[in-house]
Amino acid sequence: MIRLTTENTQKAVAKCKQLKPRVKFIQDCLFAVSSANNSNVYHVSFDVKDGEKFGQCECKASEKGLVCYHLVAGATANIYRQSLKRQTA
Ligand SMILES: [Zn+2]
Repeated sequence: MIRLTTENTQKAVAKCKQLKPRVKFIQDCLFAVSSANNSNVYHVSFDVKDGEKFGQCECKASEKGLVCYHLVAGATANIYRQSLKRQTA
């Protein structure tokens, strides 16, 4: 899994805002993100260890250890979901 930091997610956040990929919730910390360029769907998963965020995607960029916009899209949806949960708890 790739450790997500403000630095290494910056480019992907910009790309994500531009492309606005569709994100589908599957289960806690697991999302399906539709590619903006083709019909591919990538599954992204998340983990939190010792307060650090980690993420993984199925695409080629992620295989190389890069943070892709799928990860950011999923992470955004994940954070949104967590905040909803907190509000209703
Ligand atoms: Zn990806």
